[in-house]
Amino acid sequence: MLPLKDLFVSIIIPSFNEESVIEHTYKRISETMQGLGAKGYELIFINDGSRDQTLAILKGFAQKDAQVKILSFSRNFGHQPAVSAGISICQGDIAIITDADLQDPPELFPEMIQIHLRENANVVYAVRQQRKGETWFKLLTARLFYRTINSLSDVKLPVDTGDFRLIDKQVIEAFKSLPEKNKYIRGLISWIGFKQVPMYYVREERFAGETKYPLSKMLKFASTSLLYFSKKPLKIALTMGFLSILVGLGLAIWVITGLLFRSNTLVPGWASTVIAVIFFGGVQLLTIGVLGEYLGNIFDEIKNRPEYIVQEKINF
Ligand code: UDP
Ligand code: MG
Repeated sequence: MLPLKDLFVSIIIPSFNEESVIEHTYKRISETMQGLGAKGYELIFINDGSRDQTLAILKGFAQKDAQVKILSFSRNFGHQPAVSAGISICQGDIAIITDADLQDPPELFPEMIQIHLRENANVVYAVRQQRKGETWFKLLTARLFYRTINSLSDVKLPVDTGDFRLIDKQVIEAFKSLPEKNKYIRGLISWIGFKQVPMYYVREERFAGETKYPLSKMLKFASTSLLYFSKKPLKIALTMGFLSILVGLGLAIWVITGLLFRSNTLVPGWASTVIAVIFFGGVQLLTIGVLGEYLGNIFDEIKNRPEYIVQEKINF
């Protein structure tokens, strides 16, 4: 483990339409990093296909400040690919993944690094004790998400963590060796293992602008994390299949015994038939749907397309 004065630190900042906040972010992170006493640092901004002035503003910083590096995507690929690109390209002995909107206060970076040094931690993950200025909908969905994923997934995810974390060289290298294209960063880092230590903090309100995670992106994120980290949905389908067969058999036995022994009690109706058809039809569709989800992901992976396309690299 390198002492602080020998550490080169990378900060990874995915940025999508953040023109209203990016300047403050740059200033606050730079101040923190200058006061840190490390060997050096780099700020890697990943411009994830912003449609506003974000890239132009970033280029302004990069012209004056060689520590600012920009990786600009050809379009919006999403938060997770942006972080993944940052990890792949960073030069640091350690890297800190943070948001561009100052929800993860840069003033906590030194503490994170201290925990890394003091506890020999390969990963320091930030756990939100309190979240300011989030809608009840966001809080509720986040809560539901973590409970569900943890009850289904093979890898345990610390509750109330985002992607705000420090990772060291070993973890960076391990991460780079992962072949999947659709990356669920926090799950993968948790999966990589080594020594992972929490740091508790209060999550700030977004400094300016609005969330870049609408419901559709949240759903895609939840489905990736579930399908890539759990085979349980497949098993649920299997169990349901078994149960339906049992119900079907039971029904058949009931009907046959009814015909043989209680012919006068049997109601000659369509209802039971129709209900059975609908029910089993539903079960089958559901099962096929689950298979389809996995198949779709396999399809995505074997296409072997890159996770993102870089249009421009500045200061690298
Ligand atoms: N982001 C990104 N691409 C996207 C959506 C978001 O790079 O398609 C970035 C965004 O600029 C921010 C971070 O990911 O730095 C987290 O997004 P946001 O703050 O909007 O999410 P929230 O904090 O509301 O969950
Ligand atoms: Mg945010």
